[in-house]
Formats: sequence, C-alpha cells, structure tokens
Amino acid sequence: MDRNEELFERAQDSIPGGVNSPVRAFRSVGGAPRFIERAKGPYMWDVEGKRFIDYILSWGPMILGHNNEAVIADVEAAAEKGLSFGTATEAEIRIAEEIRKIVPSMEQVRLVSSGTEAGMSAIRLARGYTNRNKIIKFEGCYHGHSDALLVKAGSGLLTFGNPSSSGVPASVTEHTLVLEYNNPQQLEDAFKEFGSDIACVIVEAVAGNMNLVRATPEFIHTMRRLCTEYGALMIVDEVMTGFRVELGGAQAHYGVTPDLTMLGKVIGGGMPVAAFGGRREIMQHVAPVGGVYQAGTLSGNPVAVACGLATLKAIQAPGFYDTLFGQTKKLVDGLTAAAKENNITFCADHVGGMFGLYFLPEIPTGFADVMKSNTEQFNTFFHGMLDRGVYFAPSTFEAGFVSVVHTDEVIAETVNAARDVFAQMK
Ligand SMILES: *Cc1c(COP(=O)(O)O)cnc(C)c1O
Repeated sequence: MDRNEELFERAQDSIPGGVNSPVRAFRSVGGAPRFIERAKGPYMWDVEGKRFIDYILSWGPMILGHNNEAVIADVEAAAEKGLSFGTATEAEIRIAEEIRKIVPSMEQVRLVSSGTEAGMSAIRLARGYTNRNKIIKFEGCYHGHSDALLVKAGSGLLTFGNPSSSGVPASVTEHTLVLEYNNPQQLEDAFKEFGSDIACVIVEAVAGNMNLVRATPEFIHTMRRLCTEYGALMIVDEVMTGFRVELGGAQAHYGVTPDLTMLGKVIGGGMPVAAFGGRREIMQHVAPVGGVYQAGTLSGNPVAVACGLATLKAIQAPGFYDTLFGQTKKLVDGLTAAAKENNITFCADHVGGMFGLYFLPEIPTGFADVMKSNTEQFNTFFHGMLDRGVYFAPSTFEAGFVSVVHTDEVIAETVNAARDVFAQMK
C-alpha cells in the first residue's frame, strides 16, 4: 500500500467516503485519490513525492498557477493585520468596484463564501423581486447544492422536477422546471405555459459540470428575449466561466446582459470568495435595504478578499488571456492529434481557458450526448495519465482547466504522455 492508499483508508473512518466533496473520491474511475502535500505553478506533489501536471486547478480558481508569489505576498500581508473582523473593510469596496469594472452588468455586488450560496441567494432574490415562484434550470447544469437546485428532469417535457438527492422534499423542487440545454423551442413553450409565474432562468452559458458544453448563441439570446418579454430575471451562473472563458466571462463571450450574475472560483484565487450581483434596482431588494434576507459571518473575509483582489489584478496584465487561450488551444489540438494517430474515437474542445475531452465521435451539445461517452475508455485514459504524472478530473462529466503557467514544455509533456496512453488503448 502506498501512502495515498493508507491515508484514504484512514480518512474513511472519520470523514464520509474519506473526502470533503464527492467527486474527489475517485468513485467513477476507481482507486485512491492522491493526497496532495504542496503545489507550485502547473504542478502538484502528493504525499509520495510524485509530481503531477495539474489540469483541475482546484476546479478552476488557480488560473495563475499554484502559489503565485504576488498573491501569496498580499495574502500574508492581510493575514498579519487580522484574520476576520466581522464588520466592514475597505478591501470589500475595492473588490466590488473591480468586479463592476470587469463585469459591467453587476452594478451592485454582494460577497458570499461559495458558489452554492451565490446561487441560493440569487434565486431567493429573483423570487423576492418578481413575487413569483417558478424557476427554470437546465439538465446537466450545476449551480451548487442548495435544495431547490438539486433536481432532475421529470418524466415528460414541461413537468416539474423531482429531487435528485435524498433529504430534499418534493415540495421544495415542485417549482423548479428542468429543461434541455440548447433547446430554445422548449424554453419558448415553457414560457408560454408558465410565463406569468416564472421568477428566473438560471444557466451556465458555457456548461462545465457535464464536461464542457457550449451554449448556442440562439439558445442564450432566446433566453434573454423571453426573460425580458415575460418579466423574469436571467441569471447567468459564471462561477466557473467568470474570468475564465474571457475576462468579462461568458456574458462578454456571448454579448448578453443578464439581470443577475453569480461569480466564484477565480474571484477567490483559491480562497473562499463568491458573489452575486446585477442591476442596482434588483440588488436594492437585498437586506438590509430590501426584504430579501441574506447574510454571512465570513462574507468578505479580509484574507480571502486580498487573495481575490491580487488574482483579479494579475489576470488584467497585458497579454494574459492571449497566453492562457493559446496554451489551452495547444493542449486540445495536441491531444486530438495524438488520439487520431492511434485511431481512438476522441475529440476535444475549449472555450478560453477551460476545455472538454470527450470519448465521443463528435463534440456534445447537451446532456444526452455527454451521457453517451465511453466511460470505460475515459477511465483507462485517466489512470494512464495519472500514472504518467498528469492529473485530469477523475470523471468524464467535468471540464478541465489550464493556467497561464502551463508552458509549451508542460503541454508537450502532457501530449507525449497521452500519445503513449492512446497507443496502449488501441
Ligand atoms: C463550482 C460551481 C458552483 C458551486 O460553487 P461552490 O463554491 O462549490 O459552492 C456553482 N455553479 C457552477 C457553475 C460551478 O462550477
């Protein structure tokens, strides 16, 4: 048994499944998760001292690579002044102003500590603002684990969803309508039938929690039009896509202005910061000015905010996104070519600095397509790469991430390892 296996066994005694978030447990690929000791740049080292090229990057936040020196310096300086005050600080104004500058649709911003909280709060706000009950979400999109969003599609089209987790009463999800991603006609039909009681539509404009699936512009723009027509709010969940698919996020990529936006992951730069925000007139309904209650002991934590601010500063350096997108493209092109050389049914896609790898003949456009992935081949690929020191997400239903310090050398090492694994898979 190696140290990872030992620790995994020990962990399962005091932590359910040995992990503090389910996908970390390697359930779908098998084996023991790697227990990480430290990380730097594009690399992480486990407790055995083995080095991995990291394409998970804490599920997106480490866009600068691990342990960026400027970020660490600001975090240390903030920590020295105090870990938490439970009251207002100037840094909170600075990060709100910075977010507004980068994402202009967010005229006002409320900080929270996780994407889950951002989603839960945005939905409460949408319901409070519109005085309506129903919400629309899409199959395969993830917006955190709050009750009303843990829902799977009903048995027919245009039926309300059933809880996808035990512990969620059906009465909590009875107002959540689950529709197909990239199906504008279905959205149109749903508004025709329920429009006067729809509070909001929530969407990942580039989906990253069912592998990577791009929305079609038609889907996004139909959503915007219908929300405006029926007085519902459009919530774009940019927890993953924010500062990732473009500096201004998916809304900049598609040229759409949502009513509310959720941010997370990159805005904390690896520490717990998330946010929701949008039109001033809507945000004025949040407590203490409005009647929609929302609060948090550690919201706007000074150390976490320092980390976020330093990260937001670094990503605005000239050429940052050209480098990030260029390196992501090289990875995707390299892996695609390596699979082709070995006649493996495989394709890959990227939007900005996030990517999808698919054991499918064509790039998927929705959840049903992704479900057809060859999971057996994925698992072989995943473990082959892990053995060779390349760390991809341990599930075919997750997007991957590149940082700005994934250099040509790092990408080449990855592609060479993949060529080797694909050759053994034929
Ligand atoms: C990660 C994620 C969330 C949840 O954020 P947490 O910080 O894990 O609660 C919500 N929405 C999307 C799109 C995400 O990728």
